[in-house]
Amino acid sequence: MSAVYLVTGGSGLVGSAIKQVVDRDAVEGEKWIFLSSKDGDLKIRSDCDAIFDKHKPTHVIHLAAKVGGLFANMQQKVEFYRENIMMNDNVMECCRIHKVQKLVSYLSTCIFPDKTTYPIDETMLHAGPPHPSNEGYAYAKRMVDTMNRAYAEEYGCNFTSIIPTNIYGPRDNFSIQNGHVIPGLIHKCFIAKRDNTPFTIWGSGTPLRQFMYSEDLAELTLWVVREYHSPEPIIISVGEEAEVSIKDVAMAVVKAMDFKGEVVFDTSKADGQFKKTASNAKLRTFKPDHKFVSIEEGVKKAVDWFVDNYDEARK
Ligand code: NAP
Ligand code: GDP
Repeated sequence: MSAVYLVTGGSGLVGSAIKQVVDRDAVEGEKWIFLSSKDGDLKIRSDCDAIFDKHKPTHVIHLAAKVGGLFANMQQKVEFYRENIMMNDNVMECCRIHKVQKLVSYLSTCIFPDKTTYPIDETMLHAGPPHPSNEGYAYAKRMVDTMNRAYAEEYGCNFTSIIPTNIYGPRDNFSIQNGHVIPGLIHKCFIAKRDNTPFTIWGSGTPLRQFMYSEDLAELTLWVVREYHSPEPIIISVGEEAEVSIKDVAMAVVKAMDFKGEVVFDTSKADGQFKKTASNAKLRTFKPDHKFVSIEEGVKKAVDWFVDNYDEARK
């Protein structure tokens, strides 16, 4: 029997990058299905059942989620908690019932304890409350890790999770109000250049982040789904040495956009977590040679994609 890989959230930032890599490096005997919310609302159990009945997946990559940047998370904690809990519960239970051989779900380094030592590693996920700005999203995502172990223990399921750091790339959500920092900065810099207005960076610009280009996560996801077999989560990230400030990344956007106007900081806006430096030591024990796209190269690719696809970009 051939393997059927079902990707929930297949139309998003990470899903579209996985599709690109799968199309590029096709493997005989693998059938891939990429879903969007148009194929069914995963918050609704009957929609989820219908999707599993129709496609009969052997492997599931569960990306679908209510996803947003700092400011959306601060304003909609109830929705970030409830929608993610519902989607994750439905997908996990359908994977159990349909005897899916492998389920890979996605957590995030922003769900780790706020008060912690650095670098953060996989063992520290439940060792204290998350940052208050995103506690709705964080607790919903932490439960995936708890339930991966519970499903393994009680039903022998092969469920695991990836913990990525901040991701960016083509087909991101470029909404200024709801999106993450890189797509938000790209959209704002585009408007500033077009309208000859200042480019505004929110907050102080001092917080630090490890940004990963979506294609890197896509390539490493394929390794996890095929070769990493443990319910314990794995951090997928660039190294600690690749951590940059928000100001650094904003300047990379300015350069890639060739913006010559004024750059200002709006310090009335929140900074969020100062840093969430994560260790990729566990990943490096398995994949010592993976070479990550540099922030300059990745930002240039994301800027070029946005400029070339402005009309159809999510914004
Ligand atoms: P994204 O671009 O916002 O895409 C979200 C995907 O989920 C879309 O395909 C969307 O479908 C689908 N979706 C949302 N609600 C749904 C629902 N109720 N039913 C069915 N499908 C639904 O997200 P992403 O950035 O690729 O994130 C992928 C995963 O990585 C998520 O689990 C996220 O929590 C995690 N993650 C992301 C980041 C980051 O920086 N982006 C960092 C760490 C972890 P439509 O296209 O039809 O709306
Ligand atoms: P986080 O990494 O989970 O905190 O989420 P974000 O991707 O939203 O990044 C938030 C950080 O970027 C904070 O320090 C913000 O103050 C800063 N920032 C600067 N400009 C923007 C912007 O236009 N959008 C967003 N989302 N954050 C911005």
